[in-house]
Amino acid sequence: MREEKYDVLIVGASLAASAAAKRLVDAGLNVVALERKKLPRNKVCSGILSPRGHRFLIENFGPLPRDILHEPTSCRGVTFHFPSMISISMDFEGGPTPHLNRKFSDYWAVKSSGLNVHEETSFTGLEDDGKLVHVRAMRAGIELKYTARYVIGADGPKSQVRHSVYPDYMKSIPWFMVGQKFQRIIECPLDEDYFHFWFHPGLGHYTWSHARNGRQILGVGFPSGKNLHEYHRNVEAYLRDKHGVKLEPAEEMEGCAQNFGPSLINRYIFGKGNVLITGQAAGFFNMLAEGMSCALHSGAIAGESVVGAIQRNRPVQEVYRRLIASEAKRCTDQWNPFRIIFGNPHEADFKAGMRKLSKREQLAVIRDIFRFMKIYAPYGWGRQILSQSLIRMVLNKYPSGRWL
Ligand SMILES: Cc1cc2nc3c(=O)[nH]c(=O)nc-3n(C[C@H](O)[C@H](O)[C@H](O)COP(=O)(O)OP(=O)(O)OC[C@H]3O[C@@H](n4cnc5c(N)ncnc54)[C@H](O)[C@@H]3O)c2cc1C
Repeated sequence: MREEKYDVLIVGASLAASAAAKRLVDAGLNVVALERKKLPRNKVCSGILSPRGHRFLIENFGPLPRDILHEPTSCRGVTFHFPSMISISMDFEGGPTPHLNRKFSDYWAVKSSGLNVHEETSFTGLEDDGKLVHVRAMRAGIELKYTARYVIGADGPKSQVRHSVYPDYMKSIPWFMVGQKFQRIIECPLDEDYFHFWFHPGLGHYTWSHARNGRQILGVGFPSGKNLHEYHRNVEAYLRDKHGVKLEPAEEMEGCAQNFGPSLINRYIFGKGNVLITGQAAGFFNMLAEGMSCALHSGAIAGESVVGAIQRNRPVQEVYRRLIASEAKRCTDQWNPFRIIFGNPHEADFKAGMRKLSKREQLAVIRDIFRFMKIYAPYGWGRQILSQSLIRMVLNKYPSGRWL
C-alpha cells in the first residue's frame, strides 16, 4: 500500500485545525488534514463567538461572510438567571459578536486557511518512530496510510489522536452529555439579543437557551449516562412556569459528549514526541462552554510550534509547551476565583452587573452560585482549583508539571 507523505498531518477540519493550518501553510509546509465527515459538516454548538474569537477570525481569515451566520446574526452578551429569579445581563466588551453557523463558518475557515482536506477519512491510529509519524486512517472501508514529520490532533473532545498517545485518558476524566432541542416559538419573553444561562442546580449542570432562525434552543448538560429527554422536560417546564416561555414540541435535537474539566484544574494534555494535541482535544474550554476562541488560539500556537521546531531544529514538544503556556493561563484564569474576584478574566463584566443589584439581591445571587457549584462537588475539582489559583498568584503562571 502506498504511503502518502506530508510535513504535517492534522486530524480534524474544524477551527483549531484551520488556525494551525494557517500558520503551517503560510510557512510553506506541505500539510494535509483528515476529516471523518463530508464537508461542510454540522457541529453541535451554540455558535456564540467571543470577542477574542471574532478578532482572531478577522485578523487571520478576513471579514466574515453573511452566509456563515445564523439569525439573529449577532449576540450582544450573556444573561445569567438565578433560582431567586434575579437576572443579570452583561454585554460583550467591544459590542455584539457573530452567531456562527458552524456548518458553514468552519468550512469557510478551512478554505481560507488553504488547508488540503481528505474528507470522509477517519484517523484510526499512529506510531511515532521518533523521526516520522506513521498514521492509519479509513475511507469507505479501505485502510489508508500516511507518514508525516508531525501530527496535530485537532479532533475535538473524543480525540482519537489523544487516545493513541494516552490510551487510558478517556477513562480517567468525568464525561458530560449536552443536548439541545429546537422548538418553534409561541411566546418567548427571553431577550433574543442575549445568550441565556441558568445557575440552577435543579435543572442541570449546564442549562442554556437562545434564539436561532425563528426557533428557540433549549439545551442542558448533565453527567453522561442520564436521560436527555427527562432533563429537557424539566427545563422546558421551568422556563414555561418561571419565565413565560411557551414553545411548540421539539422539531429537532442534537447532542454530544463533552470533556468539561481539564481547563478548570490546569490538567491539559498536549501530546508526546512529534504528536501535538490542541483545541478542545487538549482540554481547552472557557467558561460557559465557550471553546471556539481557545480552539483557534491553541491551534495557531500548535502550528507555530511546528514551524518554530523546524526552523530552530528543536524538539516540537519543547517549543509547544513553552508557547502554549499563555493560552493555558488565559483559559484557566477564567475559572480561577481570585482572578474572577480581583481581576476580569471574562469578556463581559459580571461584577458591573452585580453592582447594579441591591445588597439583598447580591447576597441572594452569591448564595445561588454556591448552591449551584455544589452539584460539581463529586468531581473533586474545588481543592484543585484553589491550589492552582494560589500557585498562579505566587508564580504568575500555572505549573506545567500537571500537563500530559
Ligand atoms: C452544545 C454546545 C454548545 C457550544 N456553544 C459554544 C458557543 O456558543 N461558543 C463557543 O465558543 N463554543 C461553544 N461550544 C464549544 C465549541 O463548539 C468547541 O469548543 C469547539 O468547536 C472546539 O473546536 P476544535 O477545533 O477543538 O474541535 P471540534 O470543533 O470538535 O472539531 C473536531 C473535528 O475533528 C473531526 N474528527 C473527530 N474525530 C476524527 C477522526 N477520528 N478522524 C478524522 N476527523 C475527526 C470532527 O468531525 C470535527 O470536524 C459549544 C459546544 C457544545 C457541545
